[in-house]
Amino acid sequence: MSRQSGSHYDVIIVGGGPAGSTAGTFLAQAGHRVLILERENFPRFHIGESLLPATWEIWQRLGFVEKMMNNFVTKPGVLFSIHNHEENLFSMVEARDLLYRPYAFHVRRSEYDQLLLEHARENGAEVWLEATVKNVLFNGQRAEGVVVSRKNGQELRLTASVIVDATGRETLLARKLGLLRPDPTLNKVAYFTHYTGAYNMGATEAVPTYIFGLEGAWLWYIPMKDDVTSVGVVMDMNHPRHRQRESSTALLADFVDDCPTISKWLQDATAVEKVRGIPNISYINERFAGDGFVMIGDAAMFVDPIFSSGVYLAMRSAQIAADTIHQAFEKGDFSQAFLSSYEQGIREHQKNIFAMIRNWYKLLESESPEIAVKSFNRVARSPLLRRNFLLTVIAGLYNRGEIVSLLET
Ligand SMILES: Cc1cc2nc3c(=O)[nH]c(=O)nc-3n(C[C@H](O)[C@H](O)[C@H](O)COP(=O)(O)OP(=O)(O)OC[C@H]3O[C@@H](n4cnc5c(N)ncnc54)[C@H](O)[C@@H]3O)c2cc1C
Repeated sequence: MSRQSGSHYDVIIVGGGPAGSTAGTFLAQAGHRVLILERENFPRFHIGESLLPATWEIWQRLGFVEKMMNNFVTKPGVLFSIHNHEENLFSMVEARDLLYRPYAFHVRRSEYDQLLLEHARENGAEVWLEATVKNVLFNGQRAEGVVVSRKNGQELRLTASVIVDATGRETLLARKLGLLRPDPTLNKVAYFTHYTGAYNMGATEAVPTYIFGLEGAWLWYIPMKDDVTSVGVVMDMNHPRHRQRESSTALLADFVDDCPTISKWLQDATAVEKVRGIPNISYINERFAGDGFVMIGDAAMFVDPIFSSGVYLAMRSAQIAADTIHQAFEKGDFSQAFLSSYEQGIREHQKNIFAMIRNWYKLLESESPEIAVKSFNRVARSPLLRRNFLLTVIAGLYNRGEIVSLLET
C-alpha cells in the first residue's frame, strides 16, 4: 500500500458510476492510493432507478446508509401486471425475517451516482471529472497504465498496479481485448423518458416499482421524488413494431397506449427528457480479470433490466473485486490467476439471474396470454414459490440457489 504522490497510483478506476465509486471507496478505506477517472461532468443523466434490498449490506459497509435514508423515495416492493390482468404486489415486508430492511429505493441516478462518487472522494479517493480514458496501456499481457485526456485538452499517461474497468456499457477493456460475448437470446432494446405531472401515488413516502408485461414487451413505471416519474419499454429487437422503425417517441407512446393503467397515469404528464433508446443486448465477458486488471459492473456483464438487478450487481461486483485487489496487494500478486478469484464470487449471482430473466421472456412470449398469466399466478399464489421469488428476484439474494425453476412455463 502506498500513499506516494506523482503519476503512479495503487489502483486506477476508469468510470465513476456505482461500480467505480463503490470500488473506489472500499479501496481508499483500505488505505490504497486510488484515482477515479470519469469522462462526464456530474450530475449526469443515467437510466436504472429501481434498487434492490440486497444492496443494504453494501450501503452499510460503505458507510452510506444515512445518505440513502435522507435522499430517496422508499420502494416497498414490485407490482406486476401481465397482459393487463390482475395486479400482483410482491411486498418485501412478507420476507422481512430474512432481510436487513424490507424495502429499497427509487433514485434519480444523477443524484445517486453523484452522492456515491462524492462519498468515494470523502473516503480518500482522488476523483477527476471530464477525464476520458483513451486507452489502457499494456506491457505484454499486463495492464500497467492509462492514457487520459482532460477537459483542457491535456493528455497524460498514468500508471497503476491494478486498473479497474468500470466504464459501464462502454466496456473499454473487453472491446480492446475481444472479450465481449453478447447473449443473442436476450437481444432487447429499451426506450424511456422522465415525466413530471404523472400520477405518483404520493411518492414522497413509499411506492412500488410497476412492471406491466405485454405481448413480447414490458413497461416500467417508477415514481421518484420531486414529481419525476421514469417510464420505459423493453422489447425484442425483432419485435414487429421495432422493425417498422417508428421514431423512439412514437414507439414509447404506442406501448403506453397498449397499457390502460399507464395511459391513465400519464394523461396530465409532460416529458422532461428526450426519449432515449438503448439497444440493451445482454452480454457477459469471456473473463472478468487479467494480469493487472479487473472489469466490474456493466463493464463485465450487462443484465437485462427486468428485475432491476444492474446497480446491485455493479456494486456487489465492485465490493468483491475491491476485497480481491486488497488481498493482491497483501500478497504482491497481481496476476490473472489471483485476480480471477473475484470472478468466481460474482458468477453464481450472474448465472442464477440470467436463467430467471430467460424464463421471464419465455413467459411473455408464450403461445397465449392465458398461459403467461397462469404461469405467473402459479408463483404469486403458492406460498413457497412466492417467498422464493420475493427473496431471490425481488430482494436480490441471487446466491440462494432457489431461483432457476421459478417462472418456468
Ligand atoms: C433501460 C435500462 C433500464 C435499467 N433499469 C435498471 C433498474 O431499474 N435498476 C437497476 O439496478 N439497474 C437498471 N439498469 C442497469 C443499470 O443502469 C446499470 O447496471 C448500472 O448503471 C451499472 O453501473 P456501472 O457503474 O457499471 O456503469 P455506469 O453506471 O454506466 O457507469 C459507467 C461510467 O463510466 C464512465 N465512462 C465510460 N467510458 C469512460 C472512459 N473511457 N473514461 C472515463 N469514464 C468513462 C461513464 O461516463 C459512466 O459514468 C437499467 C439499464 C438499462 C439499459
